[in-house]
Amino acid sequence: MKKDYYEVLGVSRSATKDEIKKAYRKLALQFHPDKNPDNKDAEEHFKEVNEAYEVLSNDDKRRRYDQFGHAGVGSSAASGGGGQYGGGSADFGDIFSAFNDMFSGGKTRAGGAPFGFEEVFGGGGGGGRRGRPSGGIPGTDLKIRLKLTLEEIAKGVEKTLKIKKQVTCKECNGSGSKSGATETCQTCHGSGEVRQASKTMFGQFVNIAACPTCGGEGRIIKDRCPSCYGEGIKLGEVTVKVTVPSGVEDGNYLTLRGQGNSGPRGGVAGDLLVVIEEQPHELFSRHGDDVIYNLAVSFPDLVLGTKVEVPTLDGAVKLTIPASTQPETMLRIAGHGIGHLRGSSRGDQYVKVNVFVPKDLSHQDKELLKELKKSSGISPTAHNDKNAKGFFEKARDIFT
Ligand SMILES: [Zn+2]
Ligand SMILES: [Zn+2]
Repeated sequence: MKKDYYEVLGVSRSATKDEIKKAYRKLALQFHPDKNPDNKDAEEHFKEVNEAYEVLSNDDKRRRYDQFGHAGVGSSAASGGGGQYGGGSADFGDIFSAFNDMFSGGKTRAGGAPFGFEEVFGGGGGGGRRGRPSGGIPGTDLKIRLKLTLEEIAKGVEKTLKIKKQVTCKECNGSGSKSGATETCQTCHGSGEVRQASKTMFGQFVNIAACPTCGGEGRIIKDRCPSCYGEGIKLGEVTVKVTVPSGVEDGNYLTLRGQGNSGPRGGVAGDLLVVIEEQPHELFSRHGDDVIYNLAVSFPDLVLGTKVEVPTLDGAVKLTIPASTQPETMLRIAGHGIGHLRGSSRGDQYVKVNVFVPKDLSHQDKELLKELKKSSGISPTAHNDKNAKGFFEKARDIFT
């Protein structure tokens, strides 16, 4: 498991550029190979520190890292870190499905370490991000769906969402207590956990569980806040701004750290996971970062060539259909596809050209077509005969 870049540099997620730079300089000096000859640990640290700085010192990379974790900064970071950091080039699909697995497991820690002992009991904060600084129970993660049009996905979009979630109770400032008074739990003496020794045929086991009296908080509220019934949280509505980068796909997640449900009685808030739902487009089908548009063209226009206007994700664009264009030809309109998730360029639009065959023709049109049919150049017969002969000759060669 790759280390969190903020942890590597020992800075908070809200650290300024200056703070990151300072932290980097200090650590880079400390672990520099010149100062630590033949010290493999120092060398690894030095690599980690450099890799973390490469990402966090760059606004764009840092933004992507904050949203997507290591996957957001992908291969470039992995190459800087050396071979032993497996998974650095994992694609988004993998990472996002990993998130999904966490959901089905009932607990989520986006980007964190696998659930260790500490986390199961709500203390310690295994990943270092979600500790329990001042008591309380961590808030749960919240998952919402965000419908996006292909146009929005093509260029990225900022959305303001109204969401219902558990917010901190204003009456008691989240403490759950009317007067703010609490007392240390007598059952666990403030530790929040109880130990029970049990003897079995395999020996003695010590089982550690959350304290049943205080629910693991170590404190008991003396006078419950009437507004939140002592929970410290209430159902409320908040607006959240979400910046969606271009190129996201259906099922992708954006993780907004600390924007999920507030934790009861001062616990840290969970994460808000925004699940992208791509709405089907009535004109375009998506293929990776390219889009395909089907265009029917009349037979005369295919033969003679023409100029048409076709819709794109950016509005109408003029397109030249060259003379003698065959059905099913793909014509490319460069740069009118979906913006790549990494990098600033965009995919292309392909126009699949097909022949329009009219169903209702006037008597006069039919007469004109019959006239045209008499022309020797119009029919594929001569061409087909050649192919047919070729085929029968080949067949004879095989069967005789
Ligand atoms: Zn309250
Ligand atoms: Zn207790």
